[in-house]
Amino acid sequence: MDIRPICQFPEPVLTRKTLKVTSFDASLPPLVEEMIEAMRRANGVGLAANQIGVPLMLCVIEIPEEEDVRVFVNPELVSQDGERQLYEGCLSVSGYQGLVSRSQRVKVRYQDLQGRKHRLTAKDNLLAQALEHEIGHLNGHLYLEHLVEKDAVWKLSDGPPPKYARENADEGDETSEDDEGPPSEQ
Ligand SMILES: [Zn+2]
Repeated sequence: MDIRPICQFPEPVLTRKTLKVTSFDASLPPLVEEMIEAMRRANGVGLAANQIGVPLMLCVIEIPEEEDVRVFVNPELVSQDGERQLYEGCLSVSGYQGLVSRSQRVKVRYQDLQGRKHRLTAKDNLLAQALEHEIGHLNGHLYLEHLVEKDAVWKLSDGPPPKYARENADEGDETSEDDEGPPSEQ
């Protein structure tokens, strides 16, 4: 399988809103397979279609402890509640990491590869974070717009400056499961 490379910020395809999928035909499954392969090769948790240069409203998310890859066609955030601070990385902002503000709970609606409509709620977990991250991509936004402060982004190799080190980030954050292990790259 030919796998397109992952686009890097500031390539324009990353900062433009993608187009809604209107035709649920045979072209979608191979594209999804390519996205899954690109995500796995880069050790990512999620990937939006525009990250491989395809401006369609489509993303995949693979949560490490889950058996199946989740596929979201035309996903939209219906509601977002609460706030939490999380470390985050992005396959399209290679080599960097930041501290972002995300919602505690998100509700989304989306379609599957057959066009059937679904709703999903995720709370205080990696899925909730990944959904906000990927839907952001599909709307032309990067995690850099969600930094807790303008300077809350650093080179992965340098690690967070003391101000944004884990002890500070954990204050008032009860979602300990997200603070274990390396930050997610999506
Ligand atoms: Zn990303």
